[in-house]
Amino acid sequence: MLHLKIKNIIKSTNISLTKSRKKVLIVFLKASKPISLKYIRSAIGKMDRVTLFRILSLFEEKGIIHSIRFNDVNTLYALCNDECSGEKHNHNHIHFQCIECDDVSCLNIKEFPTIKIPNYTISNLNINASGICLNCS
Ligand SMILES: [Zn+2]
Ligand SMILES: [Zn+2]
Ligand SMILES: [Zn+2]
Repeated sequence: MLHLKIKNIIKSTNISLTKSRKKVLIVFLKASKPISLKYIRSAIGKMDRVTLFRILSLFEEKGIIHSIRFNDVNTLYALCNDECSGEKHNHNHIHFQCIECDDVSCLNIKEFPTIKIPNYTISNLNINASGICLNCS
């Protein structure tokens, strides 16, 4: 299952699968929720910072992962769904942070709002929400 997923991601993005890239990809697939840089580093074991940052920015560029920023201190990374594969991110989910357990999740919503501002082109709309999550309510 894991290998099939990796195969599909590699196929749709046309990147070559190096050992380090595979390692990082597996961490994301196994976590299946937004994870922090700290989490990634502890899960992959030994890898130098520069290599890891290059992989993360490549993955983000290729629509494999996206970054989530609730504040400047902590950036989280999460796997994209199939809609993103390719060069363009196409998210119709919001990011939710629980004020009790701090857990962050990607939540699909039925109708993603479109916002129009005269003379401006919006290419990316991020919605961050906070409240009480399923586990804490
Ligand atoms: Zn995406
Ligand atoms: Zn919670
Ligand atoms: Zn997300």
